[in-house]
Order: sequence, then structure tokens, then C-alpha cells
Amino acid sequence: MSTILTDSHCHLNFEHLLNNLPQVLQNARENGVGYMLCVGVTIEKLPEVLALAHEHQNIFASVGVHPDEQKGHDPSVEELVQLAQDPCVVAIGETGLDYYRIKGDMTWQQDRFRRHIRAARLTQKPLIIHTREAAADTIRVLQEESAESAGGVMHCFTESWETARAALDLGFYISISGIVTFRNAESLRAVAVRIPADRLLIETDAPYLAPVPHRGKTNEPAYVRHVAEELAKIRGVSVDELARSTTDNFFALFKNARPESGAFA
Ligand SMILES: [Zn+2]
Ligand SMILES: [Zn+2]
Repeated sequence: MSTILTDSHCHLNFEHLLNNLPQVLQNARENGVGYMLCVGVTIEKLPEVLALAHEHQNIFASVGVHPDEQKGHDPSVEELVQLAQDPCVVAIGETGLDYYRIKGDMTWQQDRFRRHIRAARLTQKPLIIHTREAAADTIRVLQEESAESAGGVMHCFTESWETARAALDLGFYISISGIVTFRNAESLRAVAVRIPADRLLIETDAPYLAPVPHRGKTNEPAYVRHVAEELAKIRGVSVDELARSTTDNFFALFKNARPESGAFA
């Protein structure tokens, strides 16, 4: 395998993937996927995420509470900072705003988002941002909280070029998921071709959002290859080049992640 792919956002501890982990990791390896970031969404399940990162040198972890999470523990800045001390933790998130799933007064979600940004600044670990139907508020909160001093990535990006531009102006990276392979995703492809090569990441968001030709099935890190192939095609570069730049970008952003720990360990 000449060039290593990196899945910058997946949920390996979710049921379907965790139950088949040896096969999932073998499939990743056979498709040249050397590194994975297993993203935390609750405090309750964080031990599962950390265990995966401790057991596998090529799996990294993040600490955060997803904006859609309403029942679980809502950590303070100090708790987030404390939990992020684990050396396997390379990022804070996923966090952000989601006005699609939950309606009403979203002050609580914005407060949680601000706490995550403060924890990222204190730990100097970058942010993983989830935004859905909340682009303007997401950018505004990032600006108000000086998120540029922590940096981060807009994950599973589906917003406009104006939103991408605003995030890039904050020094953020943009991560593209399997949605870019969907037939009706013309507007996302139009944005994806404009993202500077040194700010682009790729992800699966597995087990969700399986790319074509696996659409509707359980997604897994191996399928990040389809994301890379589609982006390479529309950007007019080789898959090797796309893999190389996105893996380099991953380690440039997530400075606590060490490539020398071994891609296929
Ligand atoms: Zn998300
Ligand atoms: Zn996610």
C-alpha cells in the first residue's frame, strides 16, 4: 500500500462497529486506512473510546458531548480539561450546534459549545465541530470565543462556501464525508473543489452516512477510500496525492497524534 488514508472522524465504539471490530480494522487496513480518530459523543461512553485508543496505536480519541445529547452528563470546562489530559486524546468534541434535531430555546446548547471551546483553548487541543442548520450561530460563537487560538475542523461539512470561507478564515480545516459521493450532492461537490489542499480532511462518520456504493449500509473506516476517490476525481488529483495531503493535514491539525506510532499497528 503506497499511501496511507486517514479517517478523521468515526465512532468505532458504536454497536455495529464495536461488535465486529477485528473485521472492521482488517477491512480498514486492506483499504490502506492507517489512522482513525474515534470521536466521543458522551461522557458516559468515553471509557470505550479511550480503551480503543489505548489498545490500538493507530486509533486516536476525542472528548466531548454531542450537541444532540440531552440526557447525559453535561461537563464543566474543568471536567473537559481534566478528561482531555489522557495522552490518547487529540481533540475536543464533537461539539457545536444542531438546530435540526432539537427545537426551542437553544441557549443550553450554545453554553455547552462555549465550554468546549474554552476547554480546547486551555488544553491547546483542537475542536471537532458539528453544525447542522446552525451555520451562522456556529461561526458567531467560534468568533466570540476566539476559537482560532485552539483551531479545529468543521466535520461532515455540508454548508455553503461562505460558511467554509468563514471557518477557513478562523484557521479551521474542513472535513468531507461520504455525502460527497451522493448523486444529489452537487452543491457540496462545488464547495469541496474550492477547499485549499492544505486545509482538507476526509472522514466516514461511521457507522452513519456510508458512501456510494455502500449507501444505506453500516459505514466503516475502510469506506473513507470512496470519499478519497470522489474528491480526487473532482479535484483533478491522484488518489495517492489526496491521501498524502489529507493524512499530512490530519497530523498537522491534531498535534498530539503521532504518525510514528504505526499506521497498521
Ligand atoms: Zn457530527
Ligand atoms: Zn460524529
